[in-house]
Amino acid sequence: MKNNLEGISFEQVVNKAGTSYAVFRGQLTPRYSLVFFDIARGYFFLFLISALVIVLHRVYSLPWWLLIPGGGLLTGYCAAYIALFAHEASHYNIHPDKKTNDRLATVFLCLPFGLSLKSYRKIHWQHHLYLGTPSDTEISYFNHLSGLFILETLTGIHLLRTILTKEKIEVLTQEQKKESRYMLLAGFIVHALLLTAALLTGNWVAAFAWILGFGIFFPFFATMRQLLEHRDELAKATTDFRKTPHGKLSRIFYHALLSSSFGAAGFTRHLIHHWDPQASYTRMKEIEDFLNEDEKTAAIVRASKTTYSTVFKTLLKAH
Ligand SMILES: [Zn+2]
Ligand SMILES: [Zn+2]
Repeated sequence: MKNNLEGISFEQVVNKAGTSYAVFRGQLTPRYSLVFFDIARGYFFLFLISALVIVLHRVYSLPWWLLIPGGGLLTGYCAAYIALFAHEASHYNIHPDKKTNDRLATVFLCLPFGLSLKSYRKIHWQHHLYLGTPSDTEISYFNHLSGLFILETLTGIHLLRTILTKEKIEVLTQEQKKESRYMLLAGFIVHALLLTAALLTGNWVAAFAWILGFGIFFPFFATMRQLLEHRDELAKATTDFRKTPHGKLSRIFYHALLSSSFGAAGFTRHLIHHWDPQASYTRMKEIEDFLNEDEKTAAIVRASKTTYSTVFKTLLKAH
């Protein structure tokens, strides 16, 4: 079994003390204060970057052609980080009360991305059910990583293509589609208000950095991250995975300064998330330690461990 734990039941995994994972996971309640801190950190950096762009332009007269791409890149990185917590909320892991979980997530995690949590939850669950098959709904990893693909993601061509060929909408009910449109409009209004405020106060450089961040770099980082999590190194560039099954494959990424923010909210341990999707990211380290105490799972964890840059380089070389 390659980079995939999903065939192993929770009862089959036993630690050195003889406790099965089925029992162990009962004590893994999310650390909600850590979730709050992690989300707040994302917003702090997001607004800090905009503030820095304003100061560097107005006070230090740094040129716009430096500040817009630089500020955009960092804004997009922070936006991608924050969006990862919408995923956590889709698994009901940001607040113990499900309704409060959804209300908080709608305002703080979904609105900035024009996302309906209910629709996203439904689409995302299809990803868990159909990973590696043509029925998957989160399919960045169906794309061959090439210079051209990177260029397409950085120019918005890939995003446009994804929007135009949105097959995933099939799984949504009429009500969910309506809510999706409503949230998209609400998100658009929030950004329009922020941009208007920036333009009226003469901060057009910050406004363009924001647009570049949310419009280009955020989808770029999200697409790359998903591709690196799931695409097989042996996948052929010419295979159409909408027709041919890609196969289940997920990875675990070593924690380092950039990987822990690029793959925040448990995404560095994506292999484990696909095995136990309801487990909170705040307990992932303990789960990995547990899996390492059982020989058969330890071997899979070991084989799946890599770094984002290693996978990036390998996939870029693949044909
Ligand atoms: Zn996944
Ligand atoms: Zn998930």
